[in-house]
Amino acid sequence: MHMIDHLGIAVKSLVQARKFYEQLGLEVITEEEVKHEKVKVAMIPVGESRIELLEATSDDSVIAKFLQKRGEGLHHVAIHVPDLSHAVETLKANGARFITDEIKIGAGGHLYVFVHPSSAGGVLVELVQDAPSAV
Ligand code: ZN
Repeated sequence: MHMIDHLGIAVKSLVQARKFYEQLGLEVITEEEVKHEKVKVAMIPVGESRIELLEATSDDSVIAKFLQKRGEGLHHVAIHVPDLSHAVETLKANGARFITDEIKIGAGGHLYVFVHPSSAGGVLVELVQDAPSAV
């Protein structure tokens, strides 16, 4: 199913940033560190989608660099696709650029890849697919 999986928002502090959403009656359901991306992530369900708050854990993290350059704000839009490899093949066949060539595995076992903003109307787009079910 296609849907907005989440909106990734770069923040200086998860502790500070989550307060805004909590005032709206929303809740952080998971908070975890993603070591290979050098970020701490807080997930806040909003209906069928989620807000993903991203805090850098290192100065050379992508999020740290984003904060230095642009300040806090919307970092990426994640679109849930039914078949990630198919989506990637289709986009590549049409000349799209990707941040990394390989599909990565996220914390919950889901698959993801980032499309370069130059191929997506100036927006960093993350494509996400559910964890492939165990055989
Ligand atoms: Zn994301």
